[in-house]
Amino acid sequence: MDITVAKNAGFCFGVKRALELVARAADDPSRPVHTLGPLIHNPQEIARLDARGVRQVRSLDEVNEGAIVLSAHGVDPKIEDTARARGLPVIDATCPFVRRAHDHIRGLAEEGYAVVILGDRGHREVEGLAARVGGKAEIVTSAEEVHELPFRRRYGLVVQTTQRPQALCEVAAALAERCRELRVFNTICEATMKRQESARELAERSDVMIVVGGRNSANTRRLHEICISTGTPTHHVETADEVDAAWVRAAGRVGVTAGASTPDWIVDEVVTRLRDPGKGIEAG
Ligand code: SF4
Repeated sequence: MDITVAKNAGFCFGVKRALELVARAADDPSRPVHTLGPLIHNPQEIARLDARGVRQVRSLDEVNEGAIVLSAHGVDPKIEDTARARGLPVIDATCPFVRRAHDHIRGLAEEGYAVVILGDRGHREVEGLAARVGGKAEIVTSAEEVHELPFRRRYGLVVQTTQRPQALCEVAAALAERCRELRVFNTICEATMKRQESARELAERSDVMIVVGGRNSANTRRLHEICISTGTPTHHVETADEVDAAWVRAAGRVGVTAGASTPDWIVDEVVTRLRDPGKGIEAG
């Protein structure tokens, strides 16, 4: 059995940067470090941070002292303002690509465009984007939902950094029929596009695909969808323990890809498990 890991897979620039910032903060014993919700969408990596004393809280109300980390996905600016007003040190781990989307959405609103976000409702990045324009944004997940929007003179479109370019094209085309003027910012990040392209290319030449990453990770779910769309049998796992030997027993070529918040050590464990004859899988 031949096992190939996608050329672009696993930790992206923004996630690495966020983890480095937090690791540096955790090295300072003079103050506790808190993240609002998970820093990144990978439960196993979050458990490692927890072991280093980085505590996850649901709201600022749970924090009396110590630093607050803004996650790579960004947060509602009101949260950041409240933390600063309370004198809590703020560590801004917001990915610069998410910041760029913040700038675009604010600019669109200031120029009078009715703002539309293509993204997952309830995802923190999308909530943070909408918060930049006081919540005055339509959130859509597909072109079908655009047909429900009213006709307006001007629409401006931004997109969650981890969406698929194809979905952006479909939504933009549908939106063009709902207005006289349309402005589109492709805020899908380069890391996402590279991971999606590598996953598609590998899936097309594999008998089975394994996608590794948190179930709460939007970009991992997108990789899963892309691999499935090629027709290749695809399985999404968070850890090596979830690998089922039967999936790959008859496979000649197995492809492995991983979301942008999946650490290398989990990918390595999955590959090792796939090769582990003890689990009934023949080594390549
Ligand atoms: S997926 Fe892109 S936008 Fe999100 S953290 Fe990584 S580099 Fe930044």
